Amino acid sequence: MNKKLFVISGSSGVGKGTVLRGFLERNPEFMLSISCTTRAPRPNETDGVNYFFITKEEFQDCVEKDKFLEWAEFAGNCYGTKKKYINQCLEEGKDIILEIETKGAMQVKKQMPEAVLIFICPPSYETLENRLRGRHTEDEATIKRRLEEVKKELKAAESFDYRIVNDDLDTAIKTLEDVIKEEMKKC
Ligand code: ADP
Ligand code: 5GP
Repeated sequence: MNKKLFVISGSSGVGKGTVLRGFLERNPEFMLSISCTTRAPRPNETDGVNYFFITKEEFQDCVEKDKFLEWAEFAGNCYGTKKKYINQCLEEGKDIILEIETKGAMQVKKQMPEAVLIFICPPSYETLENRLRGRHTEDEATIKRRLEEVKKELKAAESFDYRIVNDDLDTAIKTLEDVIKEEMKKC
């Protein structure tokens, strides 16, 4: 059976992480890819669990040695998915989910056209902003930088295979589950 790769994107604060956690609780057989980032860890984050937190120099070295399947700069930090990590998961027979921003999602689609791209949309811009602020994880300057990305991200969403609105959380999780189950039937 072929293994599937799903890419989940959406603006910062839309609820990607929350929807995915809900999905993974119900479907623990899926692997969530762990990315590398130059961003500083938040108080509740652990190295090797939420991200591999690396220095800018280490990140640049990985770029030069072509170790990333995709990478992008987002709101002042770099984020990337290691090729080795993804290949290892696929070889071990795991279906993988990548939670990455839209520029990276486009790079994945180019290299792996069989990847399924899912964009999580907010019910409104105001709701997105309230969620991002309500999370209390970023300072004002960082929130502004992240909100500046929204228009471009919504434009990129037009190229995604699926768009799911995260209004009611349970409905969004159920819709993601339906999309993924439907795609798994095609394997
Ligand atoms: P992202 O991973 O997209 O940056 P998060 O998953 O961290 O976003 O969610 C941002 C905030 O919005 C969190 O405080 C989360 O609890 C809240 N949130 C997520 N989904 C919903 C929802 N459907 N309804 C209300 N609040 C939500
Ligand atoms: P955060 O700093 O909030 O954890 O993530 C900021 C953005 O970077 C989010 O849109 C998240 O999905 C994205 N991101 C996380 N890991 C990667 C990655 O490996 N590659 C890319 N391109 N984006 C990532």
